[in-house]
Amino acid sequence: MKIMVSACLTGENCKYNGGNNRNEKILRLMAENDVITVCPEQMGGLPTPRVPSEIRDGVVTARDGRIADNEFRAGAAKCLETAIREKPDLIILQSRSPSCGVKQRYDGTFTGTLTAGAGVTAQLLMENGFRCLDVQDLAEIYEGIVIRELQPEETDLLKVFLYEAIFIPEGTAPPARDIVERPELRLYYDGFGSGTADHCLAAEADGRVIGAVWTRIMNDYGHVDDETPSFAISLLPEYRGQGIGTRLMRDMLSLLKEQGYGKASLAVQKANYAVGMYKNVGFEITDENDQEYIMVCRLSGEQA
Ligand code: SF4
Repeated sequence: MKIMVSACLTGENCKYNGGNNRNEKILRLMAENDVITVCPEQMGGLPTPRVPSEIRDGVVTARDGRIADNEFRAGAAKCLETAIREKPDLIILQSRSPSCGVKQRYDGTFTGTLTAGAGVTAQLLMENGFRCLDVQDLAEIYEGIVIRELQPEETDLLKVFLYEAIFIPEGTAPPARDIVERPELRLYYDGFGSGTADHCLAAEADGRVIGAVWTRIMNDYGHVDDETPSFAISLLPEYRGQGIGTRLMRDMLSLLKEQGYGKASLAVQKANYAVGMYKNVGFEITDENDQEYIMVCRLSGEQA
């Protein structure tokens, strides 16, 4: 995979203060992918170190009041030229920068206040059809698969992956797609993003989401208590059995652990081949009924 990244993420000392934003995930992906680095501010002719700038009323302005718009936009244009020439599959950029920020940037008051909106380079790249990912949304990249946070505008995909998560025993006809509209299934996606335990990681291949794992505290089949997020996971059929589900599960368990959750739970049909994968990533069977196991993964020292 060819990836263009903000140079400061690779450890290059191109940041305004002469430092960098070295990122271990970026260093790992450099070992496995074809990586091109860009620093738009340096490419626009600015020195390092330099006075920090923010975008104020659409104009890039340095903290000392100097207008730096021309240099920033010249750097953005050079990055666009590089992207057109190199054709990266993905561009990963440093968060919040007036050049590289994808989703947010500082608001021009130099008070550390963030506002929605991209930096000038990210904006130009996106306007020209390049896919830009905020480095904060990157979980991992391996063998052409990007694991990243699902974006708020993509939550409709949860219905697709909920349908794919329905276990269909061999010899049984698949249910109609609108089964996901049933009330007992809507709780997996209705209002997703509103709860503190609502997290979704998407696996993406060739720019298409091919799998998802998501959690929320909900009264589903895997519910064990009101502090424990339940899991849902699925992949499109052609991507199963390649280890992608395991990576998604591990990444989500790490994310929940970082957030301080003590355990996570799920329910799985006893005949589902995924039982073995859940055990491999740390889930244990804690309860069962005729058809399903309830499985719990301990994230801290507490007992399942
Ligand atoms: S312009 Fe982008 S690459 Fe350069 S230091 Fe700022 S965030 Fe990093």
